[in-house]
Amino acid sequence: MRILIISDIHANYVAFDTVLAHAKGDWDYVWCLGDVVGYGPSPNECVERLRELPHLCLAGNHDWAALDRLDIRTFNPDASRAVRWTRDALTDENTRWLQALPTTFVIGQYTLVHASPREPIWEYILEPLVAALNFPHFETPVCFVGHTHQPVIYERTTELGDTEIRKPRYFEPVKLNGQRMIVNPGSVGQPRDADPRAAYAILDFDKGMFEHRRIEYDIAKTQQRMRDVNLPERLILRLEHGW
Ligand code: ZN
Repeated sequence: MRILIISDIHANYVAFDTVLAHAKGDWDYVWCLGDVVGYGPSPNECVERLRELPHLCLAGNHDWAALDRLDIRTFNPDASRAVRWTRDALTDENTRWLQALPTTFVIGQYTLVHASPREPIWEYILEPLVAALNFPHFETPVCFVGHTHQPVIYERTTELGDTEIRKPRYFEPVKLNGQRMIVNPGSVGQPRDADPRAAYAILDFDKGMFEHRRIEYDIAKTQQRMRDVNLPERLILRLEHGW
């Protein structure tokens, strides 16, 4: 079984559709690590496309914000404006689908969360120290996370908990070698590592082979859709810069 691992689509349907077209034939099942909506112009289209696929999806902080489940005073003004727009745009049926998403899922050798194993909705794992502190909070060898919008692998290299960071090498499958790892596929719809291309990953579930991938999509098309629905200009511009 091969898994398409995606995260942080953020209502960017053009990027999502491009990823699905690019990965066509390479997967049997989808794992989505949350934040299907928020920021982008196509929340219903993204939810509905994902629902058509054989999938498992986790809840992210922006999904919860769109459900009014968390206080958005901590969001910056542009993000909260986008949250309010998303709430209004979502159909009742898609809202109900978001409401039912779990925050943690364990399957075989893998734990899935949006943010971090100890704080599945909120915590950003942006450095090895924070990754190291999270290893005691899940039991499987590998945990997949999204949330930071940065593709990366954190590998625990000693029993004492020393943790190393591995940058992604795109289209080069790596063996998940039994070491404990926290793995982020990156973001489909709003990358934040200074590379505006959409990120996703493929996992061969049985062989334990994992591959980061990165592809171009029509950023201008998403930006135009955002302008059409009057989303904040700063959110529109950030897509072309990848931050
Ligand atoms: Zn996100």
